[in-house]
Amino acid sequence: MKEINCKLIILGSGPAGCTAAIYASRSGLEPIMINGNQPGGQLTITTDVENYPGFADPVLGPDLMQNMIKQAENVGCKVYNEQISNIELNSYPYILKNNNYTFITESIIIATGASAKWLGLKSEEKYRGHGISACATCDAFFFKNKKVAVIGGGNTAVEEALFLTKFAKEVILIHRRDKLRAEKILQERAFSNEKISFLWNSIVLDINGNDNPKLVKSIVLKSLQDNSTSLIDVDGIFVAIGHKPNTELFFNKLDLDDEGYLKVHNQVFTNKKGVFAAGDVHDKSFRQAVTAAGFGCMAALEAEKFIELKK
Ligand code: NDP
Repeated sequence: MKEINCKLIILGSGPAGCTAAIYASRSGLEPIMINGNQPGGQLTITTDVENYPGFADPVLGPDLMQNMIKQAENVGCKVYNEQISNIELNSYPYILKNNNYTFITESIIIATGASAKWLGLKSEEKYRGHGISACATCDAFFFKNKKVAVIGGGNTAVEEALFLTKFAKEVILIHRRDKLRAEKILQERAFSNEKISFLWNSIVLDINGNDNPKLVKSIVLKSLQDNSTSLIDVDGIFVAIGHKPNTELFFNKLDLDDEGYLKVHNQVFTNKKGVFAAGDVHDKSFRQAVTAAGFGCMAALEAEKFIELKK
């Protein structure tokens, strides 16, 4: 096992982590960024990004993130394709470990982001990867000329539905209320797309499928208006019901709120000195690439001050 000493470890390489890495590198902290299990974060599984400033034409999420990581490396950040399995915050300097490395660090920026939520049905688990997905960008291709359902009413659900229309012959958006939460511009695009239809006030009770080969066949729905149940045939289901913060590593080590988000004060400070949080791991209000990047910048500036004051 290799031991590495440094001033700053950044956990996560989405917009928050990369921006922190760029700022911290430029201020001479020689940070190490640990990529985690989804290098580049959630934008790597999206398609066109139209709302990140600086790109007059839409930029592909994976391209944007590849460039951000490259930019961080170009200004001196060392990037490790590793995942941390244990973190020790009760002694100082802090220690982060996995089977390959022990990192000993003076400060940490946590930018581990959030992951897609699932409905929590047994049948959903059974058919995940066999007709059930949480990533249209990754899997829409498998549903050419098929009928698919998208569950959810937020930006992700509507974007997934719109993307799926490029492949599927029919897309049904199933939402538990009668209003979408998604931005107006996305709603307008979805309402005017002939391939998309809407099932309002409905929740998924169960998912049926074949066993050999394992494939989704239909969804059992419950109407929240009259409690009636119905069955609709589909070839695929895309679950887009929001996200949960990636904070398992910090259970009982840092203060978390009821939903598992890192608690912060003054934007980016956790309850441990020298441990900062940036992006979707603590921010459940904005959750945008550009706001995550902003938090990454703030965390890096505070880490710099913290290390300077210690001298
Ligand atoms: P959201 O939390 O915004 O939306 C989740 C949706 O799923 C809601 O409509 C919610 O219903 C529904 N839902 C939640 N739990 C369940 C459940 N158990 N069963 C059925 N339905 C459920 O999540 P998103 O992933 O859509 O977006 C997350 C954030 O990322 C948002 O801030 C969004 O703006 C941002 N985003 C931005 C994009 C962009 O700017 N281009 C693209 C994608 C995401 P209800 O409405 O009733 O609560």
